[in-house]
Amino acid sequence: MRIDIITIFPDFFQSPLQTGLLGKALNRQIAQVNLVNPRDFTHDKHRRVDDEPYGGGAGMVMKPEPVFAAIESLPVCAPREIILLSPQGETVNQPLLWKLASSYEQLVIVCGNYEGIDERITHIVTREVSLGDFVLTGGEIPALAIVNGVVRLLPGTVGKKESLKAESFEGGLLDYPQYTRPAVFRGWEVPPILRSGDHKAIARWRRQKQIERTRQRRPDLWEKIKLYIDPKDNSS
Ligand code: SAM
Repeated sequence: MRIDIITIFPDFFQSPLQTGLLGKALNRQIAQVNLVNPRDFTHDKHRRVDDEPYGGGAGMVMKPEPVFAAIESLPVCAPREIILLSPQGETVNQPLLWKLASSYEQLVIVCGNYEGIDERITHIVTREVSLGDFVLTGGEIPALAIVNGVVRLLPGTVGKKESLKAESFEGGLLDYPQYTRPAVFRGWEVPPILRSGDHKAIARWRRQKQIERTRQRRPDLWEKIKLYIDPKDNSS
């Protein structure tokens, strides 16, 4: 997969794209991330990417020309999605990440800054995506979150496929609690069942914990998934 990030702050991405599992995956060419700066597509002496809003008001607005030119400079690998990051877009969730990871050869991710990008950007983007109901100063953090979440799902990034399936939101439930050594830490003991070696009992316990947690912490998710849960698993 090819991922192009349109950003006026390309330096922001240097360390995160080289770190951890994401860094390893990009090193192994599981995906290629390309950073494109709209400032490189300006023609004035000051290389301006922003201007005052028509109609007045606070803040500056990103000009359309450099952003369009940056997007139009890219090779097209079909199928592709051009994503505008905006607090007004559809909220990112795990099904959306799966769709992005499995349906496209190329993702172009456009980061806004200041008061956002001139509204005419909507004529070139194919999707608007939000990280959640809050406002950040720019699209760079949401872009990183999406790149991380998408690349994680591409074959080869995570060693075992089961690791992907067992996580929160896969299958509609939150993940079960995880423990590692030592068996007792500051007097808190790892549940004995996890040390019993009884794999069936462990699987049952984990399933019950997933259900319990989802019901308690995310009643909204539970309402959607409860009809699909085997009543035997939901005995607590
Ligand atoms: N004036 C815009 C509004 O109220 O909808 C907010 C602009 S925000 C200060 C600047 C940029 O940060 C946005 O254009 C967008 O790219 C990015 N951004 C901020 N919050 C975001 C969020 N929750 N999800 C995705 N992008 C966000």
